[in-house]
Amino acid sequence: MKAARLDSFGGSDRLVYGDLPDPSPKKGEALVSVRACALNHLDLWIREGNPAYKIELPHILGNDAAGVLEAFGPETSVPEFSVGDSVIVSPGVSCGECARCKEGLDNLCDSYAILGANAGWGSYAEKIAVPARNLILKPARLSFEEAASYPLVFLTAYHMLATLARVKKGSTVVVVGSGSGVGAAAIQIAKHLGATVWAASSSEAKLKAAKELGADGVLTSPPDRLSKAVRKALGRGGVDVVFEHVGGDFFTEAVKCLRPGGTLVTCGATANAEVALDLRYVFFKELKILGAKMGTLEELRTLSRLFDKGKLSPIVDRVFPLAEAKEAHDYLAARKQFGKVILTP
Ligand SMILES: [Zn+2]
Repeated sequence: MKAARLDSFGGSDRLVYGDLPDPSPKKGEALVSVRACALNHLDLWIREGNPAYKIELPHILGNDAAGVLEAFGPETSVPEFSVGDSVIVSPGVSCGECARCKEGLDNLCDSYAILGANAGWGSYAEKIAVPARNLILKPARLSFEEAASYPLVFLTAYHMLATLARVKKGSTVVVVGSGSGVGAAAIQIAKHLGATVWAASSSEAKLKAAKELGADGVLTSPPDRLSKAVRKALGRGGVDVVFEHVGGDFFTEAVKCLRPGGTLVTCGATANAEVALDLRYVFFKELKILGAKMGTLEELRTLSRLFDKGKLSPIVDRVFPLAEAKEAHDYLAARKQFGKVILTP
């Protein structure tokens, strides 16, 4: 099969497009013929050799995949699926046996890992072998490119807003970094849950796109002025929920945007993982600061039904052929996209 593989860590020029043997699915696995996969920032960190991920080389990146079920491994079947079905693949791999997995909290399984990261080869390839229980039927109304665009980012945003922060009708939500894949997903999900949504970004073009996605208001602000911008736009009270994934100065300011009893939920630190936090805000206002890691398999099934019913729309920025994975990485690193960057084998 053709794949874009990494033989060494470093710049985007380390992505090598060429031939690798087809993977053969083991017991419990399925083989998927990949029609589209999506880029995530995680790919850039792994490619650069981030020590947080113990990756054996050669490696294939890619957390999100949409494609066609080609075969099951030996002694493996899943009643709802037949060879030839169009599927997406849940990117989170867990043991399926431990107490947390049995409770449906598979994202908190001790062995939880992500396809294309610490759970083996990913989807920058014509074929991928995945745990059979990670298959989900592709929403019929979506193209493969659209279907590959939503698993990781929409799952993360849904877990953060619906499950952890309990956003509901009437909630006020600020989405920080609203132009990223996860930020754009958060705008749609918060609107779907009935919230009033304010999108924050320093890019006018991305704020325009955020409004088109349904944001009720926009906050143009450099990272160290976010709370001032919120007070100016919404008055002194503060908001119910801040959706955060940038870290650094944004996190510090995001805490100051919350009303008493408000919730900050975070899933990332693309700018800086070390943050300054004034604890007086946290205890005097009884703030809740929640961490989020991906989401559960069941949440991804719920989301897929929402896409199937047209309640949510995928956000594809640009599609590159797999052979141009290098160009796609450079494009993502330049942060000019709104929504997801997709590769097609
Ligand atoms: Zn487990």
